[in-house]
This record gives sequence, structure tokens and C-alpha cells, in this order.
Amino acid sequence: MVGTPIALRKRVLTRLRCTSVALITVLAACGFDPAGSQQWEPPTVYREWWDKTQACSGLSGNFDRVEWLIVPGPSFACSSGNCVGHWDPGHKIFLASTWTAHEMVVRHEMLHDLMRRSGHPSPPFGNGCPLTWETWPSDQQASPVPEGAAKLLD
Ligand SMILES: [Zn+2]
Repeated sequence: MVGTPIALRKRVLTRLRCTSVALITVLAACGFDPAGSQQWEPPTVYREWWDKTQACSGLSGNFDRVEWLIVPGPSFACSSGNCVGHWDPGHKIFLASTWTAHEMVVRHEMLHDLMRRSGHPSPPFGNGCPLTWETWPSDQQASPVPEGAAKLLD
């Protein structure tokens, strides 16, 4: 019985340490902040795209609540690799500056905000809203995506 209190204390300490790690992970996830990202005012066409995305998904949300952040360049580091767009649960949408005029890329992230989740269930992704590289009509691609270019959409 002599060893019991010590063993118990050890277990409590281990559990505390796990909690701290979990907390740090959550904080890191909340603080998604690719290098050079800047807030910016979305162009007026984005409201049109928002309406279209609401219509195809049957979901509704507040466009003005979205915080838009632009990251200079063709892509930025994200948890799945190199992203051209990333949605953050705090109504934040990150876009690589090269892709800000690409309707599918922008509306893909809008759809995440309307769904309030990540992941790509169909519907509405694909079925309903063709907002993936595979389902977006090719005649609407402004220009073909270069082979091997980063095009992940978080
Ligand atoms: Zn996505």
C-alpha cells in the first residue's frame, strides 16, 4: 500500500500533461495564420457567388460575418499540404492571392462556411454544388490548372 499514493500522483501528472498537449493543439489550430496573410475587402462579385452558393446548397449564412484573408502567392502551407484555399471555423477564409478570381475556389470555401464544417460530403459538394476540381465544369475554368500545381482546398 505504501506505493499507492505515489503511483496515483504519477497518473494524475500524466493526465495533466495530456490535457496541456491537447490545449496547445487546439490553440495552434485556432491560430491558423499562414505567413504574410492579410485581411482584405472582398470584391463585389463575391456577394453574387455567395448567393449562388446558398442557392445550390439550400443553406443560408451571413456574408458579412466572413473574414477574408489573402495569402500572397500561388499556395500556402496547410495541414493537408499546400492549399489554395482554407476555411477556418471562426468564419475565416484564406485564399492564395493567385486564386482570388477563381469562382470555384472562392465558392468552395464559401460552402464550408455555409456548412460550418470541413470535409466534402456530397451533397452539397459535387451533387448540388459542383465546387470541386472534379465536378466544376471545365468550360468555366478561366485557364487550365498547370500540371503539378498546388490546388488543395481545405
Ligand atoms: Zn474544402
